[in-house]
Amino acid sequence: MDFSQLNKKFAQNFNDQKAILKKLLQGKAVNCTSCNKPLSVKLNEKEAEFLVSCKTGCTQLTLEID
Ligand SMILES: [Zn+2]
Repeated sequence: MDFSQLNKKFAQNFNDQKAILKKLLQGKAVNCTSCNKPLSVKLNEKEAEFLVSCKTGCTQLTLEID
């Protein structure tokens, strides 16, 4: 198991997720990479995080507000 590769991939995914969130917050449409349905963003004020999900549910991202 190559952990440096794993970390790299994780960081990559994290950056991708932040990029997606940024676009959604700018009002741009982003489609789910799996089902190709539009992603929507919700604000969870209690947990201070954003929830990004598609209708089908195959994408469910949680991003903390920084
Ligand atoms: Zn999906």
